[in-house]
Amino acid sequence: MGIPVIQSTVTGPATVSVRPPLGTLVDRYQRVATDLRVSLTDKCNLRCTYCMPEEGLPWLPKGRLLTDAEINRLVRVAVRLLGVTEVRFTGGEPLIRPGLPAIVAAAAGLIPRPKLSLTTNGIGLERLAGPLRAAGLDRVNVSLDTIDADRFTTLTRRDRLADVLAGLAAAATAGLTPVKINSVLMRGVNDRDAPELLRFALDHGYELRFIEQMPLDAQHGWDRSSMVTADEILAALRAEFTLLPDPVARGGAPAETWLVAGFTGLDGRPARVGVIGSVTRPFCGDCDRTRLTADGQVRACLFASEESDLREALRGGADDEEIARRWRTAMWGKRAGHDIDDPTFLQPSRPMSAIGG
Ligand code: SAM
Ligand code: SF4
Repeated sequence: MGIPVIQSTVTGPATVSVRPPLGTLVDRYQRVATDLRVSLTDKCNLRCTYCMPEEGLPWLPKGRLLTDAEINRLVRVAVRLLGVTEVRFTGGEPLIRPGLPAIVAAAAGLIPRPKLSLTTNGIGLERLAGPLRAAGLDRVNVSLDTIDADRFTTLTRRDRLADVLAGLAAAATAGLTPVKINSVLMRGVNDRDAPELLRFALDHGYELRFIEQMPLDAQHGWDRSSMVTADEILAALRAEFTLLPDPVARGGAPAETWLVAGFTGLDGRPARVGVIGSVTRPFCGDCDRTRLTADGQVRACLFASEESDLREALRGGADDEEIARRWRTAMWGKRAGHDIDDPTFLQPSRPMSAIGG
């Protein structure tokens, strides 16, 4: 694969000490970030228990949020000067940002054109799927942790399952395919829902991926011992389905995928299911991500404790080359791994909803 696999430790393999002068977002471990996650807001209309407290969070003040024009400019710098080839919009809940279709359209107009996707809870997608597709969005990932209405309400603290299901259907109709579903399992809440979620996804032609719960909740309530692991998820699926090795190489993708024997997707190809074992099967050695928060901070990793402020550089008159230089400096300092299993691990002060998941 070219890049040594670095497990969750900073004492990883050999590094290079001199940053190449031009071009991509390379780090000392020779990983190159080509996948940009842009958080469009820290606000959300759900309150998933593994993400946010019931009362919500102190939202970022408006003046600190990047404007639509500032987001467009930073995405342009990333694509044109820094080699980013994929842009995913996220949040908080990106569908509540009024300018979203225009932001997507601006990114779709770039040359070279990046792949464009969105991670959303699906509320409002029924209305927005068509306009977003027309603006140039390629794909969506919709987060859905259970298809049981009561458990959905318990988990998200809102009675909105019907909206999410309607959003999924609208995404498929609009051609935002493959429509992927992200599911997080919580012990004692929805940990028995894995086979039912897979059956639902297979029936509708959606591609399901489970994500291990990570220590990124605002309440700091994550507990390693109660986390539902990738092994447990796979065992639950294998009790009802036959999973076969996926012949397609994983590349830099975080999800390990399997073919589900006897099922095909909407495109007639074998159906797949994925598991993202962020905690028990870290993929930091292959990470190709760079992140931009809604207030214009570059983060090299979800778990980084450092951020680099591009908003103040933008507002202070920095030109595109200067922005690119700062972004590259930020990524050069990316750590080898997330170190969740290290006794000295400290959860980042910003929760997932404020970083952009
Ligand atoms: N609101 C949108 C959504 O829910 O899809 C986008 C933002 S959300 C933070 C992005 C993804 O992060 C979702 O799939 C969500 O389930 C996942 N997520 C949030 N908190 C998490 C945690 N503590 N561990 C693992 N995944 C988490
Ligand atoms: Fe909102 Fe997404 Fe967090 Fe759920 S996971 S509270 S939908 S930001």
